This record gives sequence, C-alpha cells and structure tokens, in this order.
Amino acid sequence: MQYADVIHRCFRCGYCKFTKDFSDFNCPTYRKYWFDTYSPGGRMWLVRAWLNGDVEPSRRLSEILYSCVACGNCREHCVFDFRVDLVNIFVAARKEMVEQGHTLPAVRDYFKGISTRGNPFNQPREDRGKWADGLGLEPYNGQEYLLHVGCVGSYDERGKKIAAAVASLLKKAGVPFGILGANESCDGNEVRMLGEFGLFQALAEGNIENFKKLGVRKVIALSPHAYNTFKNDYPALGADFEVMHYTQALEQLVRENKVSFPQIKARVTYHDPCFLGRHNDVFDAPRKVLRSMPGLILEEMQKNSKNALCCGGGGNFHTDIIGSGEAGPARVRIREAVETGASILAVACPNCAKMFEDARRDEGLEDRIQVKDIAEIALM
Ligand code: SF4
Ligand code: SF4
Repeated sequence: MQYADVIHRCFRCGYCKFTKDFSDFNCPTYRKYWFDTYSPGGRMWLVRAWLNGDVEPSRRLSEILYSCVACGNCREHCVFDFRVDLVNIFVAARKEMVEQGHTLPAVRDYFKGISTRGNPFNQPREDRGKWADGLGLEPYNGQEYLLHVGCVGSYDERGKKIAAAVASLLKKAGVPFGILGANESCDGNEVRMLGEFGLFQALAEGNIENFKKLGVRKVIALSPHAYNTFKNDYPALGADFEVMHYTQALEQLVRENKVSFPQIKARVTYHDPCFLGRHNDVFDAPRKVLRSMPGLILEEMQKNSKNALCCGGGGNFHTDIIGSGEAGPARVRIREAVETGASILAVACPNCAKMFEDARRDEGLEDRIQVKDIAEIALM
C-alpha cells in the first residue's frame, strides 16, 4: 500500500483530533464515538496492524476505516510533517480494501450506481438535466463557462433547488454559461475518496474527453466536491480547463459590480464545506459574498474556517456510514450555529444543505434556524 512506510511515524499523541486551540474534539468520528479507533491516530495504528498481519480484515475494520469522512481536520492539526498525507493515507487504505474485496455493502452499492447509471440515486441518466426544466438555460455550446451541478444538484430535491438558484443568479448577472443536462456525468470525487481508483479514472477520463470535445475551457462547479477533484486530481489525467467554485464566481461578480442583492435583514452564520475550505483554502469568497448583502450580519461560529466541524457528509456522504444520532456531526454543528443567535445557517454545498436540513428536523430546531445556500439567500 502507498504510504506504508509512513504509517509507523504516528505515535497516537492525539493532537490531530482537536481544533487548533485544543478547545474541542474536531475529528467528526471521534467526536461521535469517543473511541480512539475512530480517531485519526487510531486509524493509523489499525492500518499498520492490518498491514503487519496483526489484525485480520473484517467488517468491523472496514466500518472504522470507511467511517472517516476525509474532512481534513487531522491534516491541519497533526504536529508532524507527514500530516500533509493523512487523508491520502486513509484513502490509500480504502483503495487497498477495494482491491482486496473488503468494502462494505453500502460502498459497493454506491460504486454500482455510479458505474451502471452514472449517479448514486439509481435514477435514469436521461433525467439528469430535469433540474433545469423551466429555467430557460442554454445547453453548453461554446459559452465562456460550463456550469457543472453534479449528482446531488441533478437528482436530489434539495440539491436541485440549489442548482436552480445558482443558475438563476448567474443568468441574472449576465454570465455567459451553458449546462450539459443529460450529457453531464459524475465527477468522481467520492468514488476516489472511497478507494475505487479504476472507476474514478474512467469517470475522469470520460469527463475530460467530453469537455475537450465540446471546447470547455472554464468550469463553474456547484459542488465543492466536484471543484476539489476537477482542480486537484483531473490535471494529472490530462485536463486543461480552469475551475472555480460558484461562490468564487459570485465574489468576482460582486467585485466587478455586476450583481446586486436585495436588502436581507438577517443574522447569518456560515458553515465552511471541507472540500472548499480545508481542502482548497477557499474561506474568503463565500464570506465576501455574504458581507456584500445589504443588511446581512455575519456571525462566525466559534469553530470556523480551518477549525470548522465537518457536517459528517464529507467524502462518504452517499453511504452514511457515520449515521446521525444526537452526537452526529451535523446535529452538533447545527447546535453550534444556533448558539451564534443566527436565524440562517448559510452553506455553499448541496451535501451540507442536506445534512443540516435533516439535523435541524432531528433537533427540533425548525422554528429557530433555516438552512440556506448562499445563492438562495441572494435571491431572498
Ligand atoms: S496523526 Fe499525528 S497528531 Fe495524530 S496521533 Fe498520529 S502523530 Fe499524533
Ligand atoms: S479526515 Fe476527518 S474524519 Fe478522517 S480521521 Fe481525519 S479528522 Fe477524522
């Protein structure tokens, strides 16, 4: 396994499961289970024991390794140089599990959905563009930008509303863009995070070929997950397009005075999506967009930016291995949002929106706080 020669360097000091100031546990799985096996260091020792033959592969071992949501908190807070590879190490272990046939049924189902129908919702490929019905959007035919909405934006009811809000905002601001509709494909970020590198490569190469054929040079990604893999994994496979997250596109429009927002009298707090924030250092653009909305007051949660607690979706949103419950990360996080006094929890990722909508209902907080994507707030 790649990184096998690095794993022994972890001596399970445990710094990586905290926030930077050690004020709280911030590895979402340790925060939920309070067992060291679910902490980054615990996983490092389990992988080492597995590679050394001291632990046999088992469903339990798979559950523990697959419960890591690839949020990247440990990569920020481990005190050693190898910290930059912590998420890569857990992904490499899962790659090994895939190759040895030790994945979990939920993970196998996820891969099967993607490889047979191009999405994890088991929905027909031809329905992928239905989110745009009635919006008057153009199919991509050489416009400056391609708007990529991803599987959640295409098929999930909550995600579809966010995709429509982003597209409507870009259209209103006069941004020249087109969509792929039924011709769009899964970006593969989670496929890679869950260790199926062969399927990931097939998806990425298919997307790259499609983009090249259509002449796509600039992509606006709705999902931070797609943004992450387009930016960090696709270039090594031959991609030569630029990518920005839609909040970066909005921030550019704000800077150039090409978009204006109505008066929004609300106290808002913002949750950093892991694949936008910690994985790609995009912390300012979403905040600048929110601050540019007249009347809006932005209140930070105590754990924000690099110290934001993952919503629990992360890199295995579709498999829900970590589950919910009172100590589930999304429920902990929405309680933190309520503590700020905000009436709106702003998100910049359809997966986060899904996680927090469920958490809000499960916590009985429907009358205390709303969950809205930044694009939805801009259209209020
Ligand atoms: S990964 Fe780093 S910070 Fe975490 S337990 Fe191991 S050595 Fe300590
Ligand atoms: S990536 Fe996140 S969930 Fe995974 S071990 Fe690190 S802190 Fe925990």
